[in-house]
This record gives sequence, C-alpha cells and structure tokens, in this order.
Amino acid sequence: MVITMAHGSGGAATSELIDEIFAKAFDNTVLNEMEDSAVVEGSARIAMTTDSFVVTPLEYPGGDIGRLAVCGTVNDLLMRGATPKYLTCGYIIQEGTDVELLRRVATSMAETAREAGVTIVAGDTKVIEGNGGIMINTAGVGFVPEGLEISATRIQPGDVVLVSGNLGDHHATILGSRMNITNQIESDNAPLTDMVATLLAHKIPVHCMRDVTRGGLATVLKELSDSSKVTITLEEESLPVSPAVRDFCGLLGLDPLYMGNEGKMIVALPAEAAEEALQLLRGANYGADAVQIGVVTEGIDGHGDLLVRTAIGGMRQLDVLQGEGLPRIC
Ligand code: MG
Repeated sequence: MVITMAHGSGGAATSELIDEIFAKAFDNTVLNEMEDSAVVEGSARIAMTTDSFVVTPLEYPGGDIGRLAVCGTVNDLLMRGATPKYLTCGYIIQEGTDVELLRRVATSMAETAREAGVTIVAGDTKVIEGNGGIMINTAGVGFVPEGLEISATRIQPGDVVLVSGNLGDHHATILGSRMNITNQIESDNAPLTDMVATLLAHKIPVHCMRDVTRGGLATVLKELSDSSKVTITLEEESLPVSPAVRDFCGLLGLDPLYMGNEGKMIVALPAEAAEEALQLLRGANYGADAVQIGVVTEGIDGHGDLLVRTAIGGMRQLDVLQGEGLPRIC
C-alpha cells in the first residue's frame, strides 16, 4: 500500500494512518491524550531547538531519517548541557510513499527516542503531491540544570579540544549510498545523551560542546574560534578517521575535516580536566574512540583562527566549508 492524497485529507484515511503508524510507534500517555497541544511538566530553565530533516536516501547503512530526526534535535539540546525531555515531530509525506517504509521510519524514530530519553508528545502529518518521499521536522525541549553555562563564549586559552570519535562517517555513508558504492562504512547517527550525562554527572568543568554536523569539524571549530576570538590549533596526526572512511576519502579526493557526522561532538574544557573527561567519554555509549585533537591559545590581533599542524610539522590555516558541500545529508 502507498500513501495517497486521501491520507492527508483530515478525514477517515488520515485517522487510520495516525492510529496505525504514529500512535502505535510513539505510544505514551501524553501523546495518547490526542489533545490540540501537549501539557507537560516543566523546569525553571529550558533549552529549545528545531531542525528539519530531508536526507536522501531515507534509509542508509546504520540508520534512517527517523533515527536522524531524533538525534539531530536531541544532540543540539545536549550541547547546551540540557537534559532532553520532549520532542514534537511533523511529517511531510509525498503521495506514493510505501506505507511499510513509513512504518519502519516511525518505529526507528520511536526506538531512538527511547534510547535518547525523550518523549514524543505532539505531532503532525501532511501529505503533499510527489513521487514518494518523507521529510520530518522535530522540535525539542530540554531542562538545563541551575547554574550550568555551556556555550561558545566560554572557550578560552588553556582549554583543550576533545572529539568523541571518528570523523566523516555519516557523510561518507550518504555519499556512498547515492553512488551505489558498497563498503563497510555505516552512519554514526546516534544520540550523545550518555556521553554528556556522564561528563556532567562527574562534574567535569565543560566550557563548550558542539555536535560535529554539516560542514564537518573544521567548520564547527572555525565558527567557535571566530565567536570566542581564540586560536585553536589541531594536530593532524591525532584526528581520528576510520580506515574505511580514509580510503573512501582518498578515492574521491574528500577531506574528512569538512565531512559531517551525526553522532560526534567536540568538547572544550580546561587542560587539567582532559584526561578524566577522555576516560569517561571512552566508557560511555558511542565514545570509545574519543581523543584530544587540539589546544586553545590567545587570539591574534583580536580575531580567531583555526590552524592545523600537519604530520610533517607545517601549519595550515583552515576556514569554514566553502561552496556547496553534499546536499540533503541531514
Ligand atoms: Mg549543532
């Protein structure tokens, strides 16, 4: 069976679609009330964010758009030190979409939400003309503990930069899928919940966290160095890239520094806290390959820089991603 325009009519077919797929997959007491809006418990400080997901293909090695739509939004909440609590999801479905595919995506979304510790409390579906396809918007709310300030503005000289694992996996997976290349690479799309919770539970003095998404590590760190007016110097030899992704990049002339992930983050924190933080990250879900990749020093002439010391000892200046990048990666 495929989705037809009738599924978006607001009538019987819409109710059937919602009951059969979304209500079954997301089943929880708040959503089940089926009111016009969800009423939930609150907190003095909340973090809010939203993101839209248009990735193609909809299913790829290691994940799918449903898992991605949870991870992307949950991870942005986590990066401010928030504990993710609630998600909303809006589905825009093209007519012609296979109902079984939609069911797999919704089921994956529900499983990922459980893993990440969030409840999907509200949702919407629209059906549009087209030839099969799904786009998802999620909005997220998280609770920020009293007194916790994790932000780009807190990066300072004396900090070091850690990364939680290998670079480029999600980007290489999507590109490989589109080019019909068969290899061992799988997307790293994952919630960063356990790593962040572990750092905060052990009172690690984190200054800043960012998830490494579109634009890759170089873009994320260049934006941070610009906004905090510091110099970040990376050691090229310490940048973690899996052998499979390294081969893939070599073949296609790609730079892993500019390739997106969906389950990796950088952490900036005082150098003296780095060793304990690395041990904690390596013991948490998805953090086994965490390493220190760079140091933070004073900015020069009042502006920020991102530098990389190459394997042979040269210094290269890095900028944000220029031009196109791979479209519809997330
Ligand atoms: Mg982010």
